[in-house]
Amino acid sequence: MAVIESTALFLSVALLILQNYVNHRAIETSDHELKHVYDFIVVGSGSAGSIVASRLAENAHINVLLLEAGGPVGGNTDIPGAYFSFFNGPMDWNFTHEEQFVGKAFVNRRIPEKIGLGIGGSSSHNTLIYNRGNRRDFDIWSQEFGAHGWSYDEVMPYFLRWENQTDPHLANNGFHSTTGPIQVTSWAKPNPIILLHQKAVNELGFKNVDINGGEQFGTTIAQAFIGTNGVRSSASNGFIDPNPYPHNLHILPNSFVTRVLFEGKTAVGVEFVRYGKLQTMFAKREVILSCGAVGSPHTLMVSGIGPKDQLKKFGIPVVADLPVGEHYQNHPGLTYNFLINPKYKYVVGENSAITVRNLNEFFANHRGPLAAHHRTITYLFTKNNQQGPHHPNSNFETGLYLFPQNLTELPFRYDRQHEWDAYHSQFMGKDYLLIHAILYRPRSMGYVRLVSNNPFVYPTINGKFLTHPLDMEDMIETLKYAFFVFERSSLAKYMTQTAPIPGCQYCPKGFIYECDSYIRCLIDQYCDSGFHSSGTCRMGSVDRKDVVVDPRLRVKGIDGLRVCDASIMPLITNGNTNAPTLMIGEKCAQMIKDDNHV
Ligand SMILES: Cc1cc2nc3c(=O)[nH]c(=O)nc-3n(C[C@H](O)[C@H](O)[C@H](O)COP(=O)(O)OP(=O)(O)OC[C@H]3O[C@@H](n4cnc5c(N)ncnc54)[C@H](O)[C@@H]3O)c2cc1C
Repeated sequence: MAVIESTALFLSVALLILQNYVNHRAIETSDHELKHVYDFIVVGSGSAGSIVASRLAENAHINVLLLEAGGPVGGNTDIPGAYFSFFNGPMDWNFTHEEQFVGKAFVNRRIPEKIGLGIGGSSSHNTLIYNRGNRRDFDIWSQEFGAHGWSYDEVMPYFLRWENQTDPHLANNGFHSTTGPIQVTSWAKPNPIILLHQKAVNELGFKNVDINGGEQFGTTIAQAFIGTNGVRSSASNGFIDPNPYPHNLHILPNSFVTRVLFEGKTAVGVEFVRYGKLQTMFAKREVILSCGAVGSPHTLMVSGIGPKDQLKKFGIPVVADLPVGEHYQNHPGLTYNFLINPKYKYVVGENSAITVRNLNEFFANHRGPLAAHHRTITYLFTKNNQQGPHHPNSNFETGLYLFPQNLTELPFRYDRQHEWDAYHSQFMGKDYLLIHAILYRPRSMGYVRLVSNNPFVYPTINGKFLTHPLDMEDMIETLKYAFFVFERSSLAKYMTQTAPIPGCQYCPKGFIYECDSYIRCLIDQYCDSGFHSSGTCRMGSVDRKDVVVDPRLRVKGIDGLRVCDASIMPLITNGNTNAPTLMIGEKCAQMIKDDNHV
């Protein structure tokens, strides 16, 4: 009987997933509907590109083509609790950084860099945290970089335009909107251990705050990109999937743009490869690149816009000599696990394992542990931070997870894999609390550069993580504080000490937070990326030499071409980068409409 029941459940889940996948596939415009010339061509359907394409197509007289290198999404991308499962799959570009000064344990000492590939881009497969950044981030863009129109007060309407805040405690606090197409929710029933964590940091003086409100400094149970129906809220399901304007918004997944086409200094169209065939489409008004902070600089450079010396080295005719690919920024992070003390197993509550039962609960009823997001965020400021609590510079997230039984399900691989397998085996099948310590206002900057003129050859990425000495100090201080919370606060008794990571030793006496050598070793071996690539097509006043796009996101010296995605950030925001990129998409769409009188 039990076998029949579980087989029936399995089949019903498989059917629901298939149905979901088929629904998402309908996004692709049929060949017979396609035109050869559009008003606007948007390249990249990620957080920003989906919004730009959809907002432009609100005007039924305007034809828009949206090209995306990856395929339709569906099935697991809808499930908030499944995001770990597609880190390394076909929905990710699977980039790695050049060999780094930290994070040496990763294969070939190359820190993995994740970026979404598919409809919705990274918004379809990210970790779902909703964090706008600090108001001072945007004021700095405006005041220090001459990005006029991008101060906090000026960008706020564009945050509100996409947001639908569903938490009644936050909706009316003056910082939120309830009318946009992207629903955000707060975790309705946090597990007991998460509440104990919150209590512990409260006791240490961190107040509960709305990090998307007046101040970031404090602690919060994360607001997440999840709808009231339990489904991930992405730029794709908020704006283009299902396609709200099939008549004048044409969407082509599996279309990799190889080049922007120019007539003199004017962008006139794009060349792309779809199902192995090279095709060309033209834009009467503008081409908008929204390929993300690696894809956009790469596409610009192979098209002839970039640092002259680099382009010449690869025999690419120079259309404009601009610092494309420079000023790459990302948030360095470090993830560490603590097991729950078995004596206090009851504090775990329901776990979010990807079981057939939980999947059925999700797809059939849009409920259950897979429909929730399990993280808290606590913002700190370090000694080097002159701005203090009003502009904190680091944070640690805490999340509750169930460690997989099968180690091949883990997202990262290491050079000494057998040692890491031995280390991870202590967690297998057990509940754990994860610390993710992140440096949110790093000073280090890297680059994205060409290695070939062939658009199919990935560019090289170098995050230069923690190369600025103050960044290293700040990272150490952040980690020490996070460990202090786990080892010395009222949370400590619920935690269990684990074996040290491979290649590092605990100090003979004392706690981890007191053990400098272990913390330095952790960073040396295990520092990773926050997956927030940005800054490579810097926006600012056109008088500046370090700028690629002006404050209206037009490529300097070129007509008919804008860049609109996380690459335009003059400095990375003090938080996760999806929300500000959605804002960039909204603001860019409005500027295009205004400039074209449409
Ligand atoms: C694993 C992961 C976890 C994250 N977690 C969070 C989080 O919890 N909260 C948060 O706020 N942020 C998070 N982020 C970051 C956030 O999602 C990104 O900063 C944001 O989505 C970037 O948006 P974008 O529009 O710049 O680029 P993307 O959303 O990455 O979109 C770029 C799109 O362009 C396409 N493309 C690239 N090149 C081409 C080409 N040549 N032709 C056609 N198409 C092309 C790509 O396939 C992609 O779909 C995370 C990111 C990742 C990868």
